[in-house]
Amino acid sequence: MAAIRVDYHIHTRFSVDSRSLPAACRSAAREAGVDEMCFTDHLDVHPVDPGFGYFDPEGYIQAVEALAGSPGVRVRRGVEIGFDRRSQCDLLAYLRTHPLPLDFVLGSVHVVEDRPLDTQLLSGNDASTVINAYFDEVEAAVRAASDHRLFDVLGHLDVFKRYLPGSRKRWEPADFRDRMDFILGLAAAGGVGLEINTSGLRNGLGETLPGLDIVRRFRERGGEILTVGSDAHREGDVGADIDGAVAVAKAAGFRAFTIFRQRKPVWVDIT
Ligand SMILES: [Zn+2]
Ligand SMILES: [Zn+2]
Repeated sequence: MAAIRVDYHIHTRFSVDSRSLPAACRSAAREAGVDEMCFTDHLDVHPVDPGFGYFDPEGYIQAVEALAGSPGVRVRRGVEIGFDRRSQCDLLAYLRTHPLPLDFVLGSVHVVEDRPLDTQLLSGNDASTVINAYFDEVEAAVRAASDHRLFDVLGHLDVFKRYLPGSRKRWEPADFRDRMDFILGLAAAGGVGLEINTSGLRNGLGETLPGLDIVRRFRERGGEILTVGSDAHREGDVGADIDGAVAVAKAAGFRAFTIFRQRKPVWVDIT
């Protein structure tokens, strides 16, 4: 598919941490020059997650459907599921009992060893212990995606850097090289994609989630599915820094990024 601009990670009032109206996000997308957007509201089944029990599947699908017919920006139906090993069966059961007409499922780890991954967890514990525990969940997530098609793309892979204590929010992928390479190889072999999440560029991290080094290593391990998204929780952030994410993809060796139709990948050329 010829080059278009997309945003594949957008939250609305159907997420516990956003108050944006879907229509306002769509208008913002149009202003930002986005051709295709995918809503990815939170679907969380772990009791410690702030979004536990919040998602309203019927209301959400209705709201997105109401926008889908209007001309202009193409609107896709997605969710961001919160994965951890304890939640895997509940997530699979939820998706089975709520057969939503989804185009895209993003899978993200927000809970580690039954605790929310946040500043409190990272500041109260040895960072590398928490990061390793986080990667345990990510590895299980990739297996669940590849074995059960639980989701299509892994969201904000190194999201823990948001919560590292102090002002220095960088981490050193080289310190976790073998683990990272193993997970990236597993994802590539299992047809599980990687997201380039631009929230780090506007929130002071100075790079995307994950950064160029990891995106490049994913490519080198045969990764082909790659989405770009802002992780907007307010309409003003829809479409933010998408060009920056595409530049990272290109620098990493990708010639195309991915959009989805009924959970099937379609590749969009990077010019
Ligand atoms: Zn997330
Ligand atoms: Zn999100």
